[in-house]
Amino acid sequence: MAGGQGGTGGPILWAPRVHNWPVPELPEVHALARGLADRAVGQIVERCTLTSFSALKTVDPPLDQLVGRTVTSVERQGKYICLDGDGTWLVIHLARGGWIRWYEVVPGTALRPGRSPIALRLRLGNGSGFDVTEMGTEKRVALWVVDRPEDVVPLAALGVDPLGAGFTVEVLGALLRSSSAILKTVLTDQSLIAGVGNAYSDEALHRARLSPYKKGSALRDDEVGRLHAAVVGVLAEAVDRTTGVDLAGLKGDKKRAMAVHGRAGQACPVCGDTIGQVSFATKSLEYCPTCQTGGRRLADRRLSRLLR
Ligand SMILES: [Zn+2]
Repeated sequence: MAGGQGGTGGPILWAPRVHNWPVPELPEVHALARGLADRAVGQIVERCTLTSFSALKTVDPPLDQLVGRTVTSVERQGKYICLDGDGTWLVIHLARGGWIRWYEVVPGTALRPGRSPIALRLRLGNGSGFDVTEMGTEKRVALWVVDRPEDVVPLAALGVDPLGAGFTVEVLGALLRSSSAILKTVLTDQSLIAGVGNAYSDEALHRARLSPYKKGSALRDDEVGRLHAAVVGVLAEAVDRTTGVDLAGLKGDKKRAMAVHGRAGQACPVCGDTIGQVSFATKSLEYCPTCQTGGRRLADRRLSRLLR
């Protein structure tokens, strides 16, 4: 049915990937939040410099309300980093190009608004601190200063956390039955499941041996169970891998650990078939035909229509 590219034998590489850095998803955001907690909790915020004015989504309370406050916790909610400045929160969404760069000693160089990948620089009382950076031209990194994390509208709308106790096989089954969307879309819909993006949804679908374009509502009970185990497994393993990795090393770690995502044209580590790729809009997905689609190679346009 979807065999438009069948019979060509070799790998088909579609449009070039729009970017080649790993997009932060739940495990990376988890590790970044944990790394910030280890380093910043107990420190006083000495200075906060905003260099990407469009990134800050709130005006009241002002960013300066963080200054002079002690960092009391840093936690992850979905793909959001929530830094508690003793009752005033800085909430960070890294989107697709964002990252956290930690400094033991924050450089003294002046920041030029709009001229660097740095969106925000926060310096702590002991001289350490971090930048919120953004690669690429999308400029979707978002920052909020709020009295409570729930005041951040998209954060309040997040679905179930796939590493939380609330994410059971039954809950996943109900989510899948409630949607008419394909699995790739269901898994990456933040209002249903919070924190899974393009890479880990590819990995979970590969591990569960399910096609990305299969309808969620069409899954049998055993397939729902497989998918649940795969989602929890790939995320938990990724979080485990990040333990002890310094923040700068996380990006390389993510790429190396992928079985299919970002590996179009390479051999599937399970069956040896050539990993296929479908590109849509500004990203692409990867899958193994033998493991996931009964040997069929997916037509590009067909899937891109479905994913819209
Ligand atoms: Zn395979």
